[in-house]
Amino acid sequence: MRDSLDLIVIGTGIAGLAAARQARQLNLGTLTFEPQFFGGLVINVNHLDGEIEGSGSELAASMMMEIADLGAQSVNAAVNAIDRDGDLLAVHADGEVYRARAVIVASGARLKRLGVPGEADFIDRGVSQCADCDGPLYGGKDVVVVGGGDSALQEAMVLAGYVRQVHLVHRRETFRARQQLVDQLAGHANIAVHWNTEVEAVLGTQGVEGVRVRTSGTAGRPANARDIACAGLFAYVGLEPECGFVPAAAERDADGRLITDARLRTTLPGIYAAGAVRSGHGGMLSHAIADGVAAATAVKTAIGA
Ligand code: NAP
Repeated sequence: MRDSLDLIVIGTGIAGLAAARQARQLNLGTLTFEPQFFGGLVINVNHLDGEIEGSGSELAASMMMEIADLGAQSVNAAVNAIDRDGDLLAVHADGEVYRARAVIVASGARLKRLGVPGEADFIDRGVSQCADCDGPLYGGKDVVVVGGGDSALQEAMVLAGYVRQVHLVHRRETFRARQQLVDQLAGHANIAVHWNTEVEAVLGTQGVEGVRVRTSGTAGRPANARDIACAGLFAYVGLEPECGFVPAAAERDADGRLITDARLRTTLPGIYAAGAVRSGHGGMLSHAIADGVAAATAVKTAIGA
C-alpha cells in the first residue's frame, strides 16, 4: 500500500480536506496525515460568517466523511520530515516511512502568542485563543482582545455576545481587518477600542486579573502606562506557519510561509502547498478550499495517474 500511493496530503484543515477530496475525485491514491483533530483552526468557529452555512466543525466533519467515503486513507500521526527516495517522496511519521509520487503540504498555521510576561503562566486560566469555546466562561466579566486584523475583530464581536465589556487593544490607529468587520464592530456598544496601545504584561495570582498596557504618545498627549482590569485575555496577533518538517531547501517568505508558483508547487519537485501554510494565501475559507482543489488538480496533471 505505502509504495503505491499517488499523493500524501499533510494536514486535514479545510485546505487539506479539499485537496484530499479533489484527489480522490480524480482517482489519485491518497493518504492524509493529521497529528491532532481534523478541521484545523476553523473548528473553533461556531458561525462561518455567511461564507458557508453552519459551524466550522460541521463543515470539517462533513468533508472528512466525504473523503472517507471516497476512499482516502488517514493516518493520525505527526510528520517529522520529508525527503526524496528515487522518484518518490518519503514522508517520515512516528518512526514509519510512507512513500508517494507527490505531497501536498496543507499543515496550516497556529495562532501566535504575544510573548509578554505572565501570558504563559495563565494559559487556560484566563489566557485563551478560542472565543467561541471560552466566551461563555466570561459572562458578566470584562475581557481584553489584542490585534487589529480579521481574527481580532471577528472574535471581539463573538466575545461581546457573552461578556460585560470587551477592551480591544490595537497597536496602531487603523485596523488591518476588512471593512465589513470594521463596520460591524461599530454596532457593538460593549466594545471599547484602545488605539496605539500594546499589552506589556498579564497580571494576576490564581488567574488573569488584568493586563498592563502602554499607549504611545500622540500630538498633545503623552505616552502612558496603565492597567486594564479583566478576567480574560484573547490575543489574535497573526499566524505562524506549521511547516518545520518541510526541508529547509524549500523557499519561504519572510514570515516562514512556503513560496509557491501558480500551480501551488513549492520550489522542491513534487511538493505542493495549499492554505495558510503558503505565502500569498488569501486567508478566507473559500481560498483554502480553492487552494486544496487547485493543488490536487495540479498533482493529477503532473503525475498523470
Ligand atoms: P493578521 O491579519 O496578521 O493580523 C494580526 C494583527 O495583530 C494585526 O493587526 C497586527 O498589527 C497585530 N499584531 C501583530 N503582532 C502583534 C504584537 N506582537 N502585538 C500586538 N499586536 C500585534 O492576522 P489574523 O487577523 O489572524 O488573520 C490572518 C489571516 O486569516 C488573514 O489573511 C485574515 O484575512 C484571515 N482571516 C479571515 C477571516 C474570515 O474571512 N472570516 C477571519 C479571521 C482571519 P498591525 O496591523 O499593526 O500589523
